[in-house]
Amino acid sequence: MKIAHLYPELLNLYGDRGNILAMTKRLEWRGIDAEVVRVLDGDNVLFSDFDIVFLGGGSDREQEIVAQNLSRLRDSLSEYVEQNGVVLAICGGYQLLGEYYQMGDEQIEGLGILKVTTERGERRMIGNAAIKADFLDRPIVGFENHGGATRLNGHTPLGKVIFGHGNNGTDGAEGVRYKNVFGTYLHGPLLPKNPHFCDYILECANAELTPLDDAVELRANDYVQARYKPQK
Ligand code: GLN
Repeated sequence: MKIAHLYPELLNLYGDRGNILAMTKRLEWRGIDAEVVRVLDGDNVLFSDFDIVFLGGGSDREQEIVAQNLSRLRDSLSEYVEQNGVVLAICGGYQLLGEYYQMGDEQIEGLGILKVTTERGERRMIGNAAIKADFLDRPIVGFENHGGATRLNGHTPLGKVIFGHGNNGTDGAEGVRYKNVFGTYLHGPLLPKNPHFCDYILECANAELTPLDDAVELRANDYVQARYKPQK
C-alpha cells in the first residue's frame, strides 16, 4: 500500500500524523507492506501511483502556503479522485478540497475538486464530537477546532452529528463523502479512536483485511461517546 502524506510539516494539527501511524500499523499487523511518501513543498507527484492520499489540518496561515503549492497538483489529484482514488482530508485539508475558504476580506482559493465552500464564522467551533455515518454501524468520534463553517452545496455529508458542531454548527451535517474522498473536521487523531473507520478506508483502497482484536481501541471509542454526550 502506498500512502501519500501531503505537506506533513504544514498540515499537522492535533496529532493528525497519528492517522498515518494507525493506517500503517493496521496494515503491518495484517502482513501488508505500507510505504508512506512525504510530499513536501515543491515536490511533484503523480497521484495515480498511490493507494491513499492524506491531508491533515493546518492554521489559516499554513493553509495559505499549502493552497499555493497544491494548485500545481490539482489536475493530477482531481483525476485520481474521479477514478475512485482514496483521500482522507482533515479540517484545513478538507476545506482546501473545496472551492474557497473566505476569511473576512481575504480568500484562500481551494482546489475546487469538491463544490463545498467555507466561510469563517463569528466564533470557533471547538470540542469533542461524534457522528454517525451510514456505512458504519458504530459512531465515529473525534475532536474539532475550526473557525471555518462549511456548506456542502449538494454533496453528501460524511455523517450526521450526534454531538458537536459539525460542518457549520447549524445543519447537523459533518464532513463530506464523495466517491472515495472522506473529508471531516474530526481530529483526534481520528483513526486510532475509530479502527472501524480506518479499516473501511483501507478496504476502499482494496486492502484485504483479516480481523484484529480492537477491544482497547473500541473501549476508547465507547468512552468518548459516553463521556461527552450532552446530558438531557
Ligand atoms: N484554519 C482552519 C479553520 O480554523 C482549519 C483549522 C484546522 O485544521 N483545525 O477553520
